[in-house]
Amino acid sequence: MNPDNFETIHIETDLLILGGGMAACGAAFEAAYWAKKNNLRVTLVDKAAMERSGAVAMGLSAINLYLGLKNGKNSVEDYVNYVKTDLMGIARDDLVANIARHVDSSVHLFEKWGLPIWKDDEGNYVNEGRWQIMVSTVQLRGKCIFYIKSRG
Ligand SMILES: Cc1cc2nc3c(=O)[nH]c(=O)nc-3n(C[C@H](O)[C@H](O)[C@H](O)COP(=O)(O)OP(=O)(O)OC[C@H]3O[C@@H](n4cnc5c(N)ncnc54)[C@H](O)[C@@H]3O)c2cc1C
Repeated sequence: MNPDNFETIHIETDLLILGGGMAACGAAFEAAYWAKKNNLRVTLVDKAAMERSGAVAMGLSAINLYLGLKNGKNSVEDYVNYVKTDLMGIARDDLVANIARHVDSSVHLFEKWGLPIWKDDEGNYVNEGRWQIMVSTVQLRGKCIFYIKSRG
């Protein structure tokens, strides 16, 4: 393709999400929920082919953060303390806590969508280290894209 001769497409939208990696797919999934109710248009644009772009397309063998809040494995405070220690105190507690508060439910959602997560004989997720759980596939974002599309 000649870089001086890109086709220009005009799209009217209320919310523009740039990039199509896990962060953008998550934002689009959440936005679609609220946008549909309020009749707003959400557009996600990636510079590459959505199904193959982004870091997750390179491979994924684990989910690097899972707290296990419902089993009492860790608390939000544990994670905030861990991050603050790791970053030598330079972290916003409220932002870190917000990630910690929501991450387990995102993992449960991926499992519901069909992401195989390793389990032990008692049916608990298999940890490698304190915060990481193991998964059996690289299909994470493909599933996310499928559900975004299914939300229109
Ligand atoms: C080899 C590898 C293995 C990994 N393994 C694991 C793992 O096992 N467990 C784990 O939890 N994490 C893992 N990670 C980390 C994890 O994959 C990333 O942290 C995460 O996917 C980052 O998502 P993101 O949406 O922030 O960014 P990205 O996935 O990098 O997405 C950015 C997107 O933006 C698009 N883009 C860039 N510039 C523009 C532009 N100007 N206009 C439009 N679009 C643009 C790109 O095409 C891309 O699709 C791994 C990463 C790598 C590279």
